[in-house]
Amino acid sequence: MSDEKRRVHCPQCLGNLESNAIVCGEHACQIVRVPCALCRGLGDLPREQLVWIEHGRTIRRERIAADRSLSEEAQRRGISVVELSEEERGARPPILGGAR
Ligand SMILES: [Zn+2]
Repeated sequence: MSDEKRRVHCPQCLGNLESNAIVCGEHACQIVRVPCALCRGLGDLPREQLVWIEHGRTIRRERIAADRSLSEEAQRRGISVVELSEEERGARPPILGGAR
């Protein structure tokens, strides 16, 4: 019953807890380090979240292939843009019951 087995290295920051983000001010853009959005700075994820991420990549690929914007897709499925964007990032479990 080890908890280690149920958590895996975050694939986005690879356990570095941070990732680079580009922040643009009025005159220039700079790269800053921000807490990893995927693991929220924890460095690892529940193993099941890898499935969510894989699912998110799949639905994102399908949406782009169908030439639908985030808001169009959210409307089509009856969910909010925030929910859809989280689903595509694997930040939440797959949302079921969408229209096909
Ligand atoms: Zn991370």
